[in-house]
Amino acid sequence: GTKVFSLDRFPLDQINRSLQAWDSADEYLIDYVNEHHPESEHILILNDSFGALSCYFISQGKQCTTVSDSYIADQATLHNIEQNQLEKTLLNQLNSLSTIEGEFDLVLIKLPKNLGYLAHQLASISQSVRLKTPVIAAGKTKDIHNSTSVNFEKFIGPTKTSLAVKKSRLVISNLIKTAQPSPYPIEWPLEKTTFSIFNHANVFSRDSLDIGARFFANYLPHGQKPLDVVDLGCGNGVIGLQTLQTLASAKLTFIDESFMAIASAKLNVEKNLAEKIEQCQFVQGDCLSDLATQSQDLILCNPPFHQLQAVTDHIARQMFEDSHRVLRSGGELRIVGNRHLDYHEQLKHLFGNCRLLGSNKKFVVLSAKKR
Ligand code: SAM
Repeated sequence: GTKVFSLDRFPLDQINRSLQAWDSADEYLIDYVNEHHPESEHILILNDSFGALSCYFISQGKQCTTVSDSYIADQATLHNIEQNQLEKTLLNQLNSLSTIEGEFDLVLIKLPKNLGYLAHQLASISQSVRLKTPVIAAGKTKDIHNSTSVNFEKFIGPTKTSLAVKKSRLVISNLIKTAQPSPYPIEWPLEKTTFSIFNHANVFSRDSLDIGARFFANYLPHGQKPLDVVDLGCGNGVIGLQTLQTLASAKLTFIDESFMAIASAKLNVEKNLAEKIEQCQFVQGDCLSDLATQSQDLILCNPPFHQLQAVTDHIARQMFEDSHRVLRSGGELRIVGNRHLDYHEQLKHLFGNCRLLGSNKKFVVLSAKKR
């Protein structure tokens, strides 16, 4: 029957409230399952963005195991389960690197944009799901390419693609392949250093150094003071890792909302500066919400400019506001950003000051001090 839900997108106070918490690919997937697999009892769901799929299938009394790389997606799913008074015990949330265990009748995937992450996920399905299990993926037509089917044929089995409905499509397959290893993490040498950088599949700029991060490396702090430093939105941790060398006594907190980012940053300290691991902590969280007010001296950040499919600057803004709260008086926020963004104005407005430390054709490095 028809179900009416109220689904929120996270973060709740996002300015653009017209963005909704589900899309036509979710609807297509739900209709398809109702028609072709109504009997399934335990569903494995990968990359449910705000819990739309989990909420729907849990409302039907089905058990759902979810796999997600995103702290925010997991929190949003829990919130939506709770506010719709759905049975929480039917939900089992796994992170993107955990071993998938369970007896599933059906696997549903919201296709990630990142093809490497898809390959990793298909490999982990091939390792953990029973043969013959249907694997159905959904995504925007413009994000489904020949390479999508090639990956399904490689890791899962013969694959067909559905007709487009409201600009979404399904990729339909059945597991017949035997278990295959994931191609990740991958490793590359970090230019101008002796470091080797490891990257799990869903990490930002996992194939090479980000050009913003490359420019930022020229403006990292030096000294001996035992400062409390944050690498905010750390990705694979390249910024924090280099800072552990230039600020030898610093205590470093690496923060990212991506589980694979945090795992990569930790791996990179362990592999490259093992003797410094006691000076570090690794936090999967939303911006700086887990850090105490006035607890840090320096925050380094290469801010994100989109969340999932939506291009938005609300995360950067949140990071700047959080930084102002978390810095001690005299502390500093230092960022790298695309020069066409209005970060300079935002920082000046929040901190009452903002200094340009350097610039090139594409980027600026800005510094704001907490008064
Ligand atoms: N520091 C890395 C570098 O320079 O290569 C990564 C920078 S990347 C532009 C921005 C990072 O912010 C991504 O790793 C992303 O996962 C992370 N991020 C996005 N939203 C976040 C949030 N709400 N809280 C914490 N980190 C977030």
